[in-house]
Amino acid sequence: MDCLFCKICAKTIDSDIVYEDEKVIAFLDINPVNPGHVLVLPKIHVEHLVDLSDEDILPVMKVVKKIMKALMSQSDVEGINILQNNYSAAGQVVPHVHFHVIPRKQGDGHRHWPGTAYQEGESAIMAERIKSAL
Ligand code: AMP
Ligand code: ZN
Repeated sequence: MDCLFCKICAKTIDSDIVYEDEKVIAFLDINPVNPGHVLVLPKIHVEHLVDLSDEDILPVMKVVKKIMKALMSQSDVEGINILQNNYSAAGQVVPHVHFHVIPRKQGDGHRHWPGTAYQEGESAIMAERIKSAL
């Protein structure tokens, strides 16, 4: 399988692994937003979060929480962002589902994307569209 993260799971490409078990691996992002930025992923190759079975999501999320707790125990970490990109339109570069666990600090200079406003009646239509697709 020509997948970068599958190769990291198989140890044919080196990475700084911080946790691994039968189903899940966690390693340092090679270009961290902040030092300690960890990627958490299932060892099974699936591209997007929707492709992951409910059964396989749980162990991944447990490791996301475990990594978050480890990062929060560091004296220089004051907050955490959990980020998960799906499809290139949303910024996904590596097509193997992964969660970014990003340590944050007051005043570290990173910003969230800006919010926008709904037009009158637009939010109700949007909520209905989502509910009818569930
Ligand atoms: P995404 O945009 O959500 O697909 O994020 C992919 C992430 O993988 C980026 O933050 C990259 O810095 C990271 N990355 C790419 N190659 C490697 C690598 N060899 N080891 C660790 N992280 C990597
Ligand atoms: Zn893969």
